[in-house]
Amino acid sequence: MIIVTRPNVSDAEVDHIRERVETLGMRTHVSRGERRTIIGCIGDEALLQEAALLSLPGVESVTPVMKPYKLASREFAADPSVVRIGDRAAATIGGRRLAVIAGPCSVEGREMLRDSAVAVRDAGAGLLRGGAFKPRTSPYAFQGLGEAALRMLAEVRAETGLPVVTEVMDTRQVELVAEYADVLQVGARNMQNFSLLSELGRVQRPVLLKRGLSATVKELLMAAEYVMAQGNRDVILCERGIRTFETATRNTLDVAAIPVLKAETHLPVIVDPSHAGGRADLVAPLSFAAVAAGADGLIVEVHPDPLRALSDGDQSLTLSAFVELMHGLQPFARAAGRDLPLPERGGLREAA
Ligand code: PEP
Ligand code: MN
Repeated sequence: MIIVTRPNVSDAEVDHIRERVETLGMRTHVSRGERRTIIGCIGDEALLQEAALLSLPGVESVTPVMKPYKLASREFAADPSVVRIGDRAAATIGGRRLAVIAGPCSVEGREMLRDSAVAVRDAGAGLLRGGAFKPRTSPYAFQGLGEAALRMLAEVRAETGLPVVTEVMDTRQVELVAEYADVLQVGARNMQNFSLLSELGRVQRPVLLKRGLSATVKELLMAAEYVMAQGNRDVILCERGIRTFETATRNTLDVAAIPVLKAETHLPVIVDPSHAGGRADLVAPLSFAAVAAGADGLIVEVHPDPLRALSDGDQSLTLSAFVELMHGLQPFARAAGRDLPLPERGGLREAA
């Protein structure tokens, strides 16, 4: 159930509406926008049937939400959500500024991580990615450096100022990873690991939720709802390609999912062109398409020496190819009404 208030509703009126709903056994969630305030009511809607909510002071409309996802739905928020990242909000995802997360698939060592971080920061990326715990198809493949990699990520963050994004694979790792990382990534293979999602709902770190290999848009939104239902509202969705009959690419980038998600949810939507295409030469065109389709950001794999990468070398950009990508993105960002400031020696330059 969604209660939309009249413009200029007072705090006392909002409190009164909430009180009324909560005494009937439902939970409330208030979203204040510039022009309107929305009070989302979560629980058994039948409880409110006789509540005469429309006659409460300050109420403009009362509408049931038929969608299975509620907190994630667009109806529940007055404006698109902007997720603030890092203790001092060192980065945001979901605003006018295009968010670019870049770095190696896996943290392979201190030096390669630092070189990648400095290069992507200097090229205009706002966040650093790097896997410490890797979900590999083969149990014999490189599984990541674990806690040692988390420590490296934190050191490189201190050195470069870039907030870090890394994957958490298991409920038992949540506390440890949250100690080091600014954003906790849920990988495609774990999108429906409901106990992991609920656990992440109880930590105070934004969650980057990747779409499952064969998950529908609705299933992705329900996965986000699992996190949000536990109290953590900072969820970023990521389209990373889905499995189709096509074998020319690693996955098929579902470009349509971007505007579909943007219409369904207030949560930010980013795209991973690296895992979608599986080939370095496809990263730029898929990134351009994603930005043109309305994505709030990108997560891109970059490696100082892709030929020697321990994971996903084929799809990793070299440091110089990443610089080129950032320049190539400029006209697409501009056309989509986004800012993508590129650093220049001596300071940041706004896209013309
Ligand atoms: C990754 O980001 O390195 C990764 C494993 O991604 P996904 O879960 O989308 O396959
Ligand atoms: Mn990877």
